[in-house]
Amino acid sequence: MATPRVPGSNPDVLELPCGGEVPVTSIDLGMRDYPCACGERHAVVMDVHPPSRFFPEPVVDVLCDTIEPAEGGRFETRHLLGMVLEEFPEAVTHTDVSENGKIGCQHIWVSQFDSRRLHTVIVDLVLELMDHAMTHSDDSSARSEFETMLDSFDVDEFVERYRAERDFDRGLYRR
Ligand SMILES: [Zn+2]
Repeated sequence: MATPRVPGSNPDVLELPCGGEVPVTSIDLGMRDYPCACGERHAVVMDVHPPSRFFPEPVVDVLCDTIEPAEGGRFETRHLLGMVLEEFPEAVTHTDVSENGKIGCQHIWVSQFDSRRLHTVIVDLVLELMDHAMTHSDDSSARSEFETMLDSFDVDEFVERYRAERDFDRGLYRR
């Protein structure tokens, strides 16, 4: 029987949402999906991945201008994952690897979804957030412009196209 311990307390062990655990060294900075022994492909996200993994730069700029993280600083990938964690607490694990010098990042999130589904979830959550922000905007033309954009926006198609594009330059978050 395994010894009980505080989850996430070991910077050498990556907690998986299916309940599994693997050495942190099983993944590398460029990995987007972890082919798990449970049969799923779990999306892997690290704090060093820029938000442009999920959105084009101009959208990232809008996000940074619109969203001010409660603790200050700039809107980053960890805030995106924070949103996913809030919505799907059971489906995402977070491992703090800052004590582990070998990895090259500080935080790793692994989701029960594969990276494509996670991408869709993130786009959905951000659209919801922006929609919410817009309903509080005094600028009615910006508001209706956004509503119109939202009506014609196809999340699946966006994710599909963006991922195909990004496959040509994965170098952006590989280092
Ligand atoms: Zn698994």
